[in-house]
Amino acid sequence: MRSSVSVVVPVFNERDNLPELLRRTLAAGRALGRPWELILIDDGSRDGSDEMLSQYAREHAGEVKALLLYRNAGQHNAILCAFAHAQGDILVTLDADLQNPPEEIGRLVEKIEEGFDVVGSMRQDRQDAAFRKIFSGMVNLMVRRSTGVILHDYGCMLRAYRRKVVEAMLTCRERSTFIPVLANLFAKRVTEIPVGHAERAAGTSKYSFYKLINLQFDLLTCMTAGPLRLLSWVGIGISALSLAFAALLLVLRFVYGAEWAGQGVFTLFAVLFFFTGAQFVALGLMGEYVGRIHGDVRERPRYLLDRVVGETLGERSAARTTA
Ligand code: UDP
Ligand code: MG
Repeated sequence: MRSSVSVVVPVFNERDNLPELLRRTLAAGRALGRPWELILIDDGSRDGSDEMLSQYAREHAGEVKALLLYRNAGQHNAILCAFAHAQGDILVTLDADLQNPPEEIGRLVEKIEEGFDVVGSMRQDRQDAAFRKIFSGMVNLMVRRSTGVILHDYGCMLRAYRRKVVEAMLTCRERSTFIPVLANLFAKRVTEIPVGHAERAAGTSKYSFYKLINLQFDLLTCMTAGPLRLLSWVGIGISALSLAFAALLLVLRFVYGAEWAGQGVFTLFAVLFFFTGAQFVALGLMGEYVGRIHGDVRERPRYLLDRVVGETLGERSAARTTA
């Protein structure tokens, strides 16, 4: 039998996008010509999206399952919850706002069947604000450098994973995570295909500026402790420079006399401010790691599942309410 497919879509206040999303995703799923399921996970919406999803699960029994989180847990945690309930051999994620065309699902699945463990996608002609694109470019470069996995678009969540990789991801207990980077830890063969990208169909981005920054730090800390090590090197570099500078000042003090040294006080201020700034940056970065460690130590559940509506792929999945 051909491998089955689970399509996972996180939904957070996407009421106006849902009818079109459902129509296009059902068409794309059915066109796969194999057993498949659509898992719609509501991430604590307050605009009635949750009721719409339950309704879809009832209307398309056997095909659509709705998972309703009790509160907003964040896109990546919501997807992990859906992964824990998905039964397919191949798992595909996409966004609910129709920025990722559901019609691309078939191509991602084909690529996995060619033998890849993870298939990412590169957004062609990306329809997002300029600052987001520039920011993404920098982040992608950083991820490529530190993981050595040459993908161009880590931010695009239209992606496919082999079941083995997803199960490995589900054993990870960290609270703040970034799925595309996490998947790289377990995948042997990773590739990327170009996909279309559209403007958000309705509503506005669910990432406020603060949430976006937080997500980038999730990505960074999920990936590597390298920046912490880098901090030490920067610290050593700055100390060495400041020693050299102090020596120079001392020499100049003897050459030009005490009066000159008195006027040099402002230079010292400049140097001092530089160090103060560097220390704040360093402390902030440490804080990002410490904060996440604190979160992990508390072992609070990543999400709280309220309800599961519908059964798919002919099997009732064990309802796990937290993980
Ligand atoms: N999303 C979510 N929980 C959140 C934020 C977003 O489930 O806390 C979902 C959202 O409904 C959408 C996807 O994640 O399906 C991507 O969000 P969005 O399109 O707002 O992000 P952007 O395209 O602006 O990066
Ligand atoms: Mg979007």
